[in-house]
Amino acid sequence: MGRYTGPACKQCRREQMKLFLKGERCFMAKCPIETGRPQPGGAGRRRKKTSDYGNQLREKQRLRRMFGLREGQFHNFFERAAKKRGITGETLLQMLELRVDNLVYRLGFAPSRRAARQFVRHGHVRVNGERANIPSMILKPGDSITVKDAKDSREYASKHMDQAEARGIVPWMSLDKNNFKGEVLHVPTRDEMAPLVDEQLVVELYSK
Ligand code: SF4
Repeated sequence: MGRYTGPACKQCRREQMKLFLKGERCFMAKCPIETGRPQPGGAGRRRKKTSDYGNQLREKQRLRRMFGLREGQFHNFFERAAKKRGITGETLLQMLELRVDNLVYRLGFAPSRRAARQFVRHGHVRVNGERANIPSMILKPGDSITVKDAKDSREYASKHMDQAEARGIVPWMSLDKNNFKGEVLHVPTRDEMAPLVDEQLVVELYSK
């Protein structure tokens, strides 16, 4: 299945939660979730009860859409998480959080995960000083991300960094704004990770 190219807000309305797909607009009062716009196509009015499978599917879709992954990519991530030691759902969230594109978004170098993915793909970031243009690369504690030392790369990042910093940088990363550099301090704990989803339902869905 290809990547979704329709209106971003429609995905949030479908999932009935903020997936933060559009940058600054997501923090404004005009966000359709804030204004209470209904689900697209009257889905909310039609649906009366949901099965266990339906709940599991919904939760998976929420998480997948939040991180902007295609089904195949997301399933692949799950399989990798399932092979690791630890609680699979939590490991999955940690792997998603530690992707380079997500870290670029968390540090505020780009306004959304979608924009961060483009920023990485176009070669605007360095990981541990080396060129890194694969958005799915997973970092570990001690790894650093720097915006390329080029005028257009740094101008783009600085446009968004102040707003991200004002909202607060995640506690498991540090940001050196002057040098456009961030570092992973530790693997985030479940409490430190933002997705307000029940990851256990995702595990149940894929474990059938
Ligand atoms: Fe649109 Fe962002 Fe609000 Fe989602 S969170 S509905 S993408 S403005």
